[in-house]
Amino acid sequence: MAKVDIPTFKLNNEKEIPALGYGTWLGLDEKTNFITEDIPKMMDALSNAIDIGYRNIDTAHLYRVEPEVGEIINRKIKEGVIKRENVYVTSKIWHQYHRETDVEVSVRASLRRLNLAYLDLILIHWPMSITEDGVDEKIDYLETWRGCESVLEKGLVKAIGVSNFNIEQMKRLVTNCKVVPASLQIELNLNLGQNELVEFCHANGIIVVAYSPFGTMVPSRQTPNSPEPKLNNPTMLEIAKKHDKTVTQITLRYLFQRGIVSIPKTVTKSRVLENAQIFDFTLDENDMNTLAEFDNGYRTVRPLFWQEFANYPFDKLPGLGQMEIPLSLRKWKNGAKLDID
Ligand code: NDP
Repeated sequence: MAKVDIPTFKLNNEKEIPALGYGTWLGLDEKTNFITEDIPKMMDALSNAIDIGYRNIDTAHLYRVEPEVGEIINRKIKEGVIKRENVYVTSKIWHQYHRETDVEVSVRASLRRLNLAYLDLILIHWPMSITEDGVDEKIDYLETWRGCESVLEKGLVKAIGVSNFNIEQMKRLVTNCKVVPASLQIELNLNLGQNELVEFCHANGIIVVAYSPFGTMVPSRQTPNSPEPKLNNPTMLEIAKKHDKTVTQITLRYLFQRGIVSIPKTVTKSRVLENAQIFDFTLDENDMNTLAEFDNGYRTVRPLFWQEFANYPFDKLPGLGQMEIPLSLRKWKNGAKLDID
């Protein structure tokens, strides 16, 4: 079996985070009561990922797959493939758990579903706080952060961080916290370079984790007017050919050389390996500069239905009014997947 040796970046808690992880967001199909046929495929792919050397797994309460993710991790520990201390597990706190004391409730529930004694990293998934019924609770994320500091102190998690915070929110958080976030997870890809945020984080010892690292490059994420590069982009193909790599490998390598962790998601076995085979070549300065030119600020993940809520972190599109939030992003016990609360 092919194996990969994935390097690590140092976090501000002196622990190491592998530079490449496995993402577990499969989407939620309301038509099938959130039961996606990709769950068994994801379990196989994750099992294979651990076998070949992945040691960083990204999940969330929202994704409804914590039990399955935990099952694979525990199976691999039992089989002797990994030890708990050698795998980096991240989960996230959803919108209805933003009160200081609810953070612990959320973290303990994630641990129970994952069947783990601790998490390596817990993130506030988004800065907004919204009830199951879609009511804006307007809770200050500094309050939520105090809850995070508390679960850290109690040893339920080894590190705390945030996701989808913008630069102003990061500056305010860093200025007003006891514990500086270990990590910021944001959308980051060739179209969305996030230079200002990355610079701020790196200057403050905060590790940046890139979600949706392929942006709209891959067919599942493409929309009619989404920008280049796609998988057949001539510039990308040229750089890929020069290094005898694929376009997706060039993309992930670019992020790694910027000091950024990537967490690509794939349920395809061959891609699990492909995405991790990026540590045996180097992009030169010309390549890096050429790739940087694709940055045009385009967002793949733009949840406009949240834009009227307090602390929404992105630019707003005027004139939309309050749009309906998808049920799957609000309600858990709606008759489906009752094992996931
Ligand atoms: P990705 O950029 O990882 O894209 C996933 C898509 O790319 C899938 O359709 C997958 O197909 C395809 N793909 C993966 N590898 C390859 C390859 N080598 N060649 C061609 N296609 C490929 O986007 P995600 O949005 O899934 O982000 C990754 C992870 O980030 C998520 O799983 C989740 O853990 C996290 N995330 C966090 C968010 C947050 O708010 N904090 C928001 C969004 C994501 P297939 O599976 O069929 O192989």
